[in-house]
Amino acid sequence: MRIVCVGGGPAGLYFAVLAKLANPSHEITVVERNPPGVTYGWGVVFWDDLLDDLFRSDPVSARMIWDAAWKWDEYEVRASGKPTTHMGGYGFSMGRRSLLDILARRATDLGVDIRYETELTGESEYPDADLIVACDGARSRLRERHTEHFGTRVDVGRNEYIWLGTPHVFDTFTFGFERTEAGWIWFHAYPFTSDTSTFIVECLPATWTALGLDRADAEEGCARLADIFAKHLDGQPLVDHRAAVGSTGWLNFRRITNERWHRGNVVLMGDAAHTTHFAIGSGTKLAMQDAIALSEALATGEPLPAALAAYEHRRKTALAPLQRAAKASSEWFERLPEYVDRPAYQFAFALFDRRGEFPAWRYLLHVATQPRPLRAGLRWVLTARKWARVRRRMTATTR
Ligand SMILES: Cc1cc2nc3c(=O)[nH]c(=O)nc-3n(C[C@H](O)[C@H](O)[C@H](O)COP(=O)(O)OP(=O)(O)OC[C@H]3O[C@@H](n4cnc5c(N)ncnc54)[C@H](O)[C@@H]3O)c2cc1C
Repeated sequence: MRIVCVGGGPAGLYFAVLAKLANPSHEITVVERNPPGVTYGWGVVFWDDLLDDLFRSDPVSARMIWDAAWKWDEYEVRASGKPTTHMGGYGFSMGRRSLLDILARRATDLGVDIRYETELTGESEYPDADLIVACDGARSRLRERHTEHFGTRVDVGRNEYIWLGTPHVFDTFTFGFERTEAGWIWFHAYPFTSDTSTFIVECLPATWTALGLDRADAEEGCARLADIFAKHLDGQPLVDHRAAVGSTGWLNFRRITNERWHRGNVVLMGDAAHTTHFAIGSGTKLAMQDAIALSEALATGEPLPAALAAYEHRRKTALAPLQRAAKASSEWFERLPEYVDRPAYQFAFALFDRRGEFPAWRYLLHVATQPRPLRAGLRWVLTARKWARVRRRMTATTR
């Protein structure tokens, strides 16, 4: 089979790896408009569920991802005027660049042809392809050419956000909320290497304009934000990648859904098919899980239309609960002023229960584990659980 993946993001590269593993005789080309090592964004977070899937699908790349991932324990919630609160949990983070580098190396080793600095404008450029995978991101050009067929819907979020980085290394996943004269502004930050953290800033549109962030260029904007969040950054700056091209990275989140995911031999995957708000940190996971599902559907040997229909059905079903959760989460942040004046414990709990899923006992556990010794106990339990899972994963894949 001749397969062309348009877009060398996590979806396209991981699918190329899995499809080649499933059938080494497939001729697979990935076309990516950027040069190698150039991408947008900073670090992304993920959890055990993705690692389990990666180890099951390709232990070789999973092991490299595991080795390169930053492991963090617990969440911190800091809001001006309130004591810091802590929430149990652990997770992993890694730079987008490092993830793409691992996947690209693995794909190349398996014989995938990756063509960088190649921009595809339409499927007719590859008339010989049996399958064209449109994994060209949220603004997919292949999808936009057939919006009506795919039944694409784009809902634009109200809040303004920007994806920044900083050399300040946060101890763990941290939410910070600062009250300014123009209203609340907040960040989600997490370390992903020994010298860099992701720092995503969000605020209501009225706050954004009142703070002059709509008019500031990248450097002025970063300086203003670094000033607002100075006590969290330990004197370190914020960095906006977009400064290099003379613009800024401020955006409104675009929630994308599609009624249909395939058209002839073109199939949507990853952000081209669906986006989920960054506050639940799942877009990369979902993109890679799409890749697993599509490669498994093709490996059944069913005729292409049946395989694509099975892939679409499986992924739409799996995605639905997360898409609901992501929507609830983004709307919670749009209503932040309703919650932020609550006492620290209640506010932190509301933040973590923004999808409205927690049973009442979780609140009692949350309050009970604020004193340091009890928190240390909970942390010990969670860490033990994490390492037990890691051992199981490694043993299962080295058998
Ligand atoms: C602020 C923010 C924070 C996030 N944090 C997280 C997180 O913590 N955890 C998480 O799991 N997810 C996170 N995400 C989501 C995640 O980044 C995306 O969901 C994920 O990158 C989707 O992967 P993809 O391969 O579908 O698309 P992309 O990663 O967007 O890759 C698409 C690729 O296609 C290329 N391309 C586009 N058009 C063409 C063309 N015409 N020809 C050739 N190449 C083309 C692009 O250059 C790009 O390399 C975050 C997103 C945002 C905005």
